[in-house]
Amino acid sequence: MKIGVLALQGDFREHRISLEKLGADVTEVRLPEQLEGLQGLIIPGGESTTIGKLMVAYGLLEPLRTFGQTQAIWGTCAGAILLAKEVGREQPLLSLMNMEIKRNAFGRQIDSFEMEMVVPFLPSPEKPYHLTFIRGPIITRVWGDARAVLSLPDGRAIAARQGKLFATSFHPELTNDLRFHQFFLELAKSESTG
Ligand code: GLN
Repeated sequence: MKIGVLALQGDFREHRISLEKLGADVTEVRLPEQLEGLQGLIIPGGESTTIGKLMVAYGLLEPLRTFGQTQAIWGTCAGAILLAKEVGREQPLLSLMNMEIKRNAFGRQIDSFEMEMVVPFLPSPEKPYHLTFIRGPIITRVWGDARAVLSLPDGRAIAARQGKLFATSFHPELTNDLRFHQFFLELAKSESTG
């Protein structure tokens, strides 16, 4: 599997390490031509305004939009924000997913926290996953063919999927549990659009 990790800013190295542990052939993507031949791409956590501005500066915005029409993209945290169509403020976005997202949605006191949660769509679903939130966003609305696939106990959505596009508010790359990366590799391999 040839998978890219967008390497403009943020914690792309951690994603690279997780993917390599699963045997994927990983490319760090900084230029449009580096997308060639990839089956999927991860957009890491970091700062979404900065990553978006760098996408514009490196001429990546349109090539990434085209890539996302056919290939899998997973955005974690800042990466999820960049996939959204609506963020409620001016910043460069890929606008690929039918979703509205609210940045820094957890407020000051608990803007970074961790919790255990059962994630039904992962391999070995009975084993809870350790979710890490760092000034993460909340998915406030999805429409069309996008679906919220994971929510907090209070109902706020923290993961969404639209065909081969996948967004999480949290950071699986900061744990040693590779099941989210495994899930993404399966998604990238699949023909699925739903
Ligand atoms: N708060 C950041 C943003 O809005 C995202 C934080 C993260 O990726 N950990 O871009």
